[in-house]
Amino acid sequence: MDVLVRPSWLLVAALIAVLLAPQVDAVQPGLGGGKYVAGVAFAVLLYLSVLLHEMSHALMAKRYGLPVRSITLHFLGGVTEIEGEPDTPRREFGVSVVGPLTSIAVGLAFLALLFVTPDGLLSLAVAGLAGANLVVGVLNLVPGLPLDGGRVLRAAVWKATGDPHRGTIVAGWGGRIVALLVLLWPMLQPVVLNRPPDLFDYLLAFVVATFLWGGASSAILSARLRRRLPALRARLLARRAVAVPLEQPLSEAVRRAQDAQAGSIVVLGPDGRPTHVVNEAAVLATPADRRPWVPVESVARTVEAGIVLPADISGEALVRAMQATPATEYLLVETDGSIFGVLVSGDVDKAFTAAGSR
Ligand SMILES: [Zn+2]
Repeated sequence: MDVLVRPSWLLVAALIAVLLAPQVDAVQPGLGGGKYVAGVAFAVLLYLSVLLHEMSHALMAKRYGLPVRSITLHFLGGVTEIEGEPDTPRREFGVSVVGPLTSIAVGLAFLALLFVTPDGLLSLAVAGLAGANLVVGVLNLVPGLPLDGGRVLRAAVWKATGDPHRGTIVAGWGGRIVALLVLLWPMLQPVVLNRPPDLFDYLLAFVVATFLWGGASSAILSARLRRRLPALRARLLARRAVAVPLEQPLSEAVRRAQDAQAGSIVVLGPDGRPTHVVNEAAVLATPADRRPWVPVESVARTVEAGIVLPADISGEALVRAMQATPATEYLLVETDGSIFGVLVSGDVDKAFTAAGSR
């Protein structure tokens, strides 16, 4: 598992150092440039506690058998990249809720530590870490994606309706509402905090709201797309294929396909194994009077690993396979290696669009 630190984090560490410098000076005067070092040290400790939060997500995911790709620390905290996703609402709940709980536990631990820490620079740091972890923990429980609380809400809606995509959409809208509230926050500040907002407040609200709105919107979009995926089944979308030998004139191959009422042509090598899948667009682009002089394989794609798919592939696996090897035609084979037919990517697109308009 990789732990990555984005360059934007360095910017925030520097910002924290500068913002904390006056406080460091007040608690421990005469440090000179050392007050910035103290600020950076605090920023490092802060991000180590963010790392603990992310590690808890990662460990819980691993416990459920989900491989963890990486943990990335960026300016607004961190993100744990998990391959696939929990397969039950209970697991989704477990993986997401453990992060905020970890932050709250770390915050409470620092709070307890504060009572035995002597006054001075150390107690400033401990108080800061206690406060920051409690804030991170509580804010992350706000029920809107991409926050952890959004995933908790997603798990709840999933559990109640049995539909994970509906859970994502509800939690995504939760995230959009949270983003709007964040955007309005500077205007509420005079009432709540009795302090007029300054430029920095507006800027921070805008950055955080944009981050939340973007995360929420992409979650909603991907849920809408993925909801349509199970309808995509290669076997049902396939075209019947006619098999022709190498070097057959295209005109003859097309005639045989028409006779057999097949929507696609597969070229077989001397050993009877498929060597090419004919590209429909290339056939249509070849004028009829030239077709007798064009060998069929010259308008076909060579059969290679990525364009041979099992006939029973469907849904997300199908889309992933098509993304891994983009092609206009795929050869569908049965488990015994025999040819079932040809899957035309345009047909998949059409079925996908049709499923969405249903
Ligand atoms: Zn989290």
